[in-house]
Amino acid sequence: MAEFLKEDIEKLIDGVLPWPAVQDMLKSPKDPGRFDKYVEILQSRVDWSETILLPLTPQLYIVAKQGERVVKCACGQEFGDYRVNWKLSSLINVREDEESLAEVYPGRDLPDPTWMQVREYICPGCGTQLEVEAVPRGCPPDFEFLPDLDVFYREWLGRPLPDTVEFTDKTLELIAEWSK
Ligand SMILES: [Zn+2]
Repeated sequence: MAEFLKEDIEKLIDGVLPWPAVQDMLKSPKDPGRFDKYVEILQSRVDWSETILLPLTPQLYIVAKQGERVVKCACGQEFGDYRVNWKLSSLINVREDEESLAEVYPGRDLPDPTWMQVREYICPGCGTQLEVEAVPRGCPPDFEFLPDLDVFYREWLGRPLPDTVEFTDKTLELIAEWSK
């Protein structure tokens, strides 16, 4: 039975985005250990030893590292404090003319390049494309998912993390440092 469940969870990991998968698991009261099994499988697939706290994307994880919570790619590349949008630490390829947009919208209506651009966020460590967003020009990178890890562990999993951190978006603090 346990084996079957593991296979089941592995299918889940390979088929859907991490956060909806986690939410789905937590809705099922029958097996509160599913989240732990899920993370255990993810952990067994990476070469590094920092504890995965939560998967963010199929390639990125929030991990515990020496009292900090950082975003880490499966390849080992780190993107800093999870409360700062990790996209700021990635390589960014911007498509904003018809020619480059046509490569990703083959045979379809192109977004208007005078208004829109497509941004591809790439891991500097392994070159994996981590995220793509089509946004109006000048719009800041979308910070899709900033989970409150302390609430998540304490209230959803019933198992508080050993330390707590302030729950706040620190992205603007980093940008302010850049402009000093
Ligand atoms: Zn990587």
